Amino acid sequence: MRATQLLLRTIRDEPSEAETASHRLMLRAGMMTQVAAGVYSYLPLALRSIRKIERIIREEMNAAGGQELLMPALQPIEAWRQTGRDAAFGANLFRLTDRRDRGMALAPTHEEVVTAIAGAHVESYRDLPLTLYQIQTKFRDEPRPRAGLLRGREFSMKDAYSFDAGPEGLDATYQRMRTAYRNIFRRCGLPTIEVEADSGAIGGKDSHEFIMPAQSGEDVILLCEESGYAANVERAASIIPPAPEGDPLPMTLADTPGVTTIAGLADFLGVPQSQTLKAVFYQADGETALVTIRGDVEVNEIKLKNYLGCSDLRLANAEEAAAAGLTPGSTSPVGLDGVRRIADNSILQGANFAAGANQPGKHYVNVNYPRDFQVDETADVATAREGDGSPDGKGVLKAARGIEVGHVFKLGTFFTETLGVQYLDEHGERRPVVMGCYGIGVTRVLAAAIEQNHDEKGVIFPAPIAPFPVHLIALNASDPQVREAADALHEELESAGYETLYDDRGESAGVKFNDADLLGLPVRIVVSPRNLKQGVVEIKRRRESDATLAPAGAVTSAVADALAKDEL
Ligand code: ATP
Ligand code: MG
Repeated sequence: MRATQLLLRTIRDEPSEAETASHRLMLRAGMMTQVAAGVYSYLPLALRSIRKIERIIREEMNAAGGQELLMPALQPIEAWRQTGRDAAFGANLFRLTDRRDRGMALAPTHEEVVTAIAGAHVESYRDLPLTLYQIQTKFRDEPRPRAGLLRGREFSMKDAYSFDAGPEGLDATYQRMRTAYRNIFRRCGLPTIEVEADSGAIGGKDSHEFIMPAQSGEDVILLCEESGYAANVERAASIIPPAPEGDPLPMTLADTPGVTTIAGLADFLGVPQSQTLKAVFYQADGETALVTIRGDVEVNEIKLKNYLGCSDLRLANAEEAAAAGLTPGSTSPVGLDGVRRIADNSILQGANFAAGANQPGKHYVNVNYPRDFQVDETADVATAREGDGSPDGKGVLKAARGIEVGHVFKLGTFFTETLGVQYLDEHGERRPVVMGCYGIGVTRVLAAAIEQNHDEKGVIFPAPIAPFPVHLIALNASDPQVREAADALHEELESAGYETLYDDRGESAGVKFNDADLLGLPVRIVVSPRNLKQGVVEIKRRRESDATLAPAGAVTSAVADALAKDEL
């Protein structure tokens, strides 16, 4: 492809609206333009890369037994009401009304429609297992569209749905999908980490996320090198360092003027924060709940929400706290009754804690559980931290940031039971079909790849997903000899199967080199008058700073060698 014929305009200035490297570089490299918040046109370079990612995904999905279909984005809202997900998605669901006043939605995901398709097809166990997938545009009215393609409101997703006769079948399909995902990201040239993920309130169901490590990522994961444990912080368990032990001393009330925080309390009393207790007051679907947890540990609200099985969880406000008899700055489980009392497992060890007294300017010291206060239940609702022990007892957790690019999830029978999708088993009995769902954010993968692979000059595309693997630059393109040699090399590379962006523009060397660094195609070849005289061309990998010279007759094999270095 000749640069003079390509829809491409690079931008030198930093776009002011860009928040992360991929957002900034994709705008500067002329890969996309913004149409509305979180809505973009993918220009030719970006689309080429997207098509390569899609191709790898298709090959692996097909190899894993998936069948491709294509479902509509536009769907009747009725389908969403039936499963209760119009409420669950809330304002994230794009809603519209057709000319006959019928409610419609733009689908953020496709469980409803795909389950109906399976329902019409599946009669008996002989029709199972079945895995259907599509690569399709999704719509989510995200509260904070962010960072270009990382969090769009219109984006491309590969979504797959599996239908099995029972949990064993689902497990086999699930493992096959995990393997396919590992293959996909490896073949894209993108290292990802597979982590245990939150599976929501339905509970007990397996769920894994594929996270691409990147500083700009929104997800925090906890990893243990020794044990191989890896989990999203939303879900991670850990072993916290123990609190000081000792014989229980008599509980006493202490004056703590002006002390309203755990840090302040620990300082004031000269005890470690691990020897304090805090009490956090929540509203869960209108019910009030008090969570008592060790002072140095934070409540994990996702774990708490799953534990309570509620759909809405928030901190109680001052009025609600007061109504329950709590004093802000001194909230306490001691002497508290009439609300649901939950304690995190962290309070089960240690002795002689400092805790609130539900009185302004006062705290209790030497509080011991269960001697001095009672709870209704204990559970793991703590946020795991870097430095905590791995939950399997084998090593220490490290934290890292990353971007969720894929998610696999055992759905179970929620959709098939709600929509009445059953099959006849070997004994002629009706049973609900068991489902799994598997997503990859195709456009997010492209953005994440750039987050992971760039430097101050521009993108550094991994070869398998580069819009073009080769960037051929003719210096002094008006020199007839250069032009002739570069034209010939362009044809040679294309016919050898290397898609080549051929910079045949009349721009200066500086402009061409800067653009090449910005676009980040993996291999750069320079044809110049000086090198031509010696019968060589210059070859440079974008990832490396040094160029090498290759005889003009051996360019394709040099390109093959350079590209092979990008494989994982
Ligand atoms: P997130 O937690 O980032 O909002 P999610 O868990 O809601 O994502 P899923 O429903 O699991 O997303 O969707 C499957 C995949 O689709 C995700 O793993 C991600 O790669 C991609 N994806 C989700 N939301 C977006 C978005 N707004 N823009 C781009 N890709 C997205
Ligand atoms: Mg997800």
